[in-house]
Parts: sequence; structure tokens; C-alpha cells
Amino acid sequence: MAKNFDVVVIGGGPGGYVAAIRAAQLGMSVVCIDEWKNEQGGPALGGTCTNVGCIPSKAMLQSAEHFEHVQHGLAEHGVEVKGVKLNLAQMLARKNGVVRQNNDGIQYLFKKNKVSFLHGRGSFVKADADGYEIAVSAPASESVKGRHVIVATGSNPRELPNAPFDEKLVLSNTGALAIDAVPKRLGVIGAGVIGLEMGSVWRRLGAEVTILEALPAFLAAADEQVAKEAHKLFVKQGLAIEMGARIGDIRKGGKDVTVEYTAANGEARKLVVDKLIVSIGRVPNTNGLNPEAVGLKLDERGFIVVDDDCRASLPNVWAVGDVVRGPMLAHKSEEEGVAVAERIAGQHGHVNFNTIPWVIYTSPEIAWVGKTEQQLKAEGVAYKAGSFPFLANGRARALGDTSGFVKFLADAKSDEILGVHIIGPMASELISEAVVAMEFRASAEDIARICHAHPTLSEATKEAALAVDKRALNF
Ligand code: FAD
Ligand code: NAD
Repeated sequence: MAKNFDVVVIGGGPGGYVAAIRAAQLGMSVVCIDEWKNEQGGPALGGTCTNVGCIPSKAMLQSAEHFEHVQHGLAEHGVEVKGVKLNLAQMLARKNGVVRQNNDGIQYLFKKNKVSFLHGRGSFVKADADGYEIAVSAPASESVKGRHVIVATGSNPRELPNAPFDEKLVLSNTGALAIDAVPKRLGVIGAGVIGLEMGSVWRRLGAEVTILEALPAFLAAADEQVAKEAHKLFVKQGLAIEMGARIGDIRKGGKDVTVEYTAANGEARKLVVDKLIVSIGRVPNTNGLNPEAVGLKLDERGFIVVDDDCRASLPNVWAVGDVVRGPMLAHKSEEEGVAVAERIAGQHGHVNFNTIPWVIYTSPEIAWVGKTEQQLKAEGVAYKAGSFPFLANGRARALGDTSGFVKFLADAKSDEILGVHIIGPMASELISEAVVAMEFRASAEDIARICHAHPTLSEATKEAALAVDKRALNF
């Protein structure tokens, strides 16, 4: 006999586990099913984000930044360090430890909130008047029944058809986070978020990194001015980035990979590398979910079809996160998970897609929220722009990290903030102020009139807001 729950959540990544906790907080009986296995075959809650995404990549970015900083960033502070050595095994072990802490943390949260957990793959079996039956297999073997089902099965890395991942020479994000010796030559296909973050990690650790990108424009989703600055800084750091590359044959040798491609100028070129990371986007994951059993609709690209409120094509079936439309970001998944749990409880869950922040954890960091200047131009919106460089910010000078700027875009008439774009130190943290401001529909003047502590990087945000009205004080 299948055990009955108010809510069955399939997938324990940021979308699923957060939905499960919120539903339990609201008094519902909840089970979360997740199939991710750690090296010992045990459960590893947290999905892509915790196991092979956000968390391990940020752990490696931090370690690699320390390694670079201790060699090149301390002398100007009068700190002399000699004999710096890389212990990559320790760096990887630390990263794995950080992942485990997060895995265990989610198990603890499930216990605390009385969320039941089943380790295994969840598949739709059938629907009847009381809800949906889900079979759970390997290592668990049982059936559960849910009045509501939340599907949060995430995404998988997209492969190039002629270069499937083997995680030895051709790496997805999984392999890219676990290379056990720094490759001399590292190739990356795709200059998106993963390509830039992983390329930065391995460049800082000593690899010669070449990134091949199909599009002619660098970081096309970011504000053009930010993308231009980022390109200049990354190239200066030593990342070789080739835009407009058309990838041809990819051949694996015993110890290397050869990528043939056509350069933007039409020239046929060849890149020989010791490892190749392929980071060309991700595809929704419905492997083993068996949506056909209940007639759950997918679109032509494999995403589960949902409305604005994450309602799928069947009554009481919901889907959130990477497996549905919208940006593939952990915090977007979490917000959707919370909103769905609240809707099931009869509340008015809400996600504001206009204020979802983006962050790229390179050095300097890049973060933005709202519209880019090119989007506003394309939409014919009249706007004012103001920016402020970190070079003119006292805290940035004291830190010795003065690259980049903060840029505000505000409505020409009402002064409402339409977008904020930051490239510079701690951009990931600074962007929160802009998100809050936009959520409250603040004007640039509101930020300009708020007292910001001195000396802080956040003063650059205030100054950029002042610059919208052409009255920056320190530049
Ligand atoms: P996932 O995290 O993919 O979780 C889905 C879970 O469902 C998995 O555990 C999977 O095993 C399980 N599952 C799937 N099918 C079944 C089934 N049938 N039965 C049982 N379980 C199933 N986003 C950010 O916001 N910030 C970042 O810094 C960031 N960095 C990233 C770095 C990398 C290298 C990568 C790859 C991604 C990064 N992302 C980042 C994106 C982020 O990881 C995803 O947007 C997020 O994990 C999506 O959450 P989700 O819950 O929808 O899916
Ligand atoms: P992406 O969409 O960020 O970048 C993929 C890049 O590959 C694009 O620039 C695209 O033009 C290029 N590309 C596609 N096909 C190509 C081809 N055949 N040849 C050469 N270039 C090609 O995807 P990603 O970097 O793989 O990351 C996947 C997702 O993970 C992202 O959408 C992002 O949402 C998420 N992620 C987020 C973070 C973060 O928030 N900091 C970090 C990593 C990943």
C-alpha cells in the first residue's frame, strides 16, 4: 500500500528541498524523493547546486583566488611570501568537505521540519481521484501517493553531439570541478557562466586556458558596457577568449583532445588541449520521471510546461526550477518552490521575475538586476544612466581592488530604477541593495539620499545613483 502525503516533491535540489520545507512549515505532510548519490552510494541532498554546481564551484573559486592572491596580491601590502605551493588534493578535499556539510545540513533541515525523505528515483505510475502514485526505486523501493506533486528534477549539462562527456578528457561541470592535476592546456567551449568561472579557477591554478565561444558578442546577456569591461579584464588576466568560433571535429587522443574550428574571420584552426570543458548550456532533466504515465506535458525542448504560477498541465501537479522555463539559477528555483508550497496552502505565493539577480563569480565579480541598456533601447524606453568607478571609492583603494564600476539605469521621467549593473569587488553582495530597491520600486534619488557607511564599497552604489542626476560627489 502506498503511503499518503499531502505533497510529494520529486527532486531535492534548491527548488525541491526548499519547497518541501516550506510545505511542511505550513502544516502539510511532505515527502521529498531524491536520487543523487555520494561516492559511498548514500544520499547527497541539494541537487546540482550543492553537489556539482554553485557550492563546489564557489569553494574552488575561493581557493584558487587565495592561491593567486598570495602570489601576486600581497607584495604591494608589504607582505612577502616565498615558496608558495599548490596542494591540489587538499583543495579538492576541502571542496568535497564543503559539499558534504551542505548535504548533511539539508538532511538535518528535513528532520527539523519533519519532511520525510526517500533516496531513489521517483516515477509517475498513475493518477486517480485521491492523487498521484509515485514509485520510488533504487536504492529505495516503495510507492507513495500525493494529493499534490511538485516536480523539481533540475537539469543536466548539454553535450556536443560529436564529443560526449567522458569526465576524463571531455568534461562537464562535474569533471571540471574534480581535475586531479592542473592541466597545462585547458580548452573550454562556451564563454558563458560556467566557462568563465571554471576557466578562471584553472587559470589561477596555472593552466593556459582558451575559451571558444560561438556568438560574436561576449556575455550577450549582460549590459554591454559591463561585458566590454569584463572582456578587457579577463584577457588581461590571461584568459584567451575567441568569439565567433564555429566548432567542427573534436578528436580524442590518448592524453589530449584536438578541437577543429572555424574562427570568426573564416580561418580553419586547431586547438590541442589536455582537457576540454564543454559548457554550452543545460537541458531540462525528466529522465526516469515517466511523465507519459499521467500525461504530464513537456514542451519541444523537454521543459515541463507550466503557467506563471508553476502549475503544470495536470490538476495539483506543479513544477519549479531548472526543469521549467526561466533562468537556470538556484535562487529562482528556491523562490518558485516557496511560492508553490504557499499556493498549495491557499496563500498567495509570488515570484517577481523582474528582480531576479544574476551573479558571475569571476574576479572581479559581475552582478546585475533588471534591464540592460541595450534592452531599454530595444524597448524604446526613455532612460537616464549614471555610473561610478571603484577607482574613486576609498574602500576599494584600501582593499587594493579598484577594477570596475556600478551603473544605474533609471526611467527618464519617474526616476524609477530599471536596472543596476555592477562589475567589481563583492558585486555579488552589493547587488542586494539594488534588488531591494527595485522590489520596492525605488527611484535612483531614493538610493542617493540614503546614508551609506564610510568607507564601504556600497558608497559606489550611492554615488552611481547620484550620477543619474549628474551629481556624483567623489568623481
Ligand atoms: P537541481 O539542483 O538540478 O536538482 C534536481 C535534483 O533532482 C537532483 O538532485 C536530481 O538528482 C534529482 N532528480 C532528478 N530526477 C529525479 C527523479 N526522477 N527522482 C528523484 N530525484 C530526481 N546557480 C546560481 O544561482 N548561482 C550559482 O553560483 C550557480 N553556480 C552554478 C555552477 C555550476 C557549475 C552549475 C552546473 C550550475 C550553477 N548554478 C548556479 C545553477 C544551479 O545549480 C541550478 O539553477 C539549480 O541547481 C537548479 O535547482 P533545481 O532544484 O531546479 O534542480
Ligand atoms: P550559459 O548559457 O551561461 O553559456 C553557454 C555559452 O555557450 C553561451 O555563451 C553560448 O553562446 C555558448 N555556446 C553554445 N553552443 C555553443 C557551441 N556549439 N560552440 C561554442 N559556444 C557555444 O551556460 P553554461 O555556462 O553551460 O551554464 C549553464 C547554466 O548554469 C547557466 O544558464 C546558468 O544559469 C547556470 N550557472 C549559473 C552560475 C551563476 O549563477 N553564477 C554559474 C554557473 C552556471
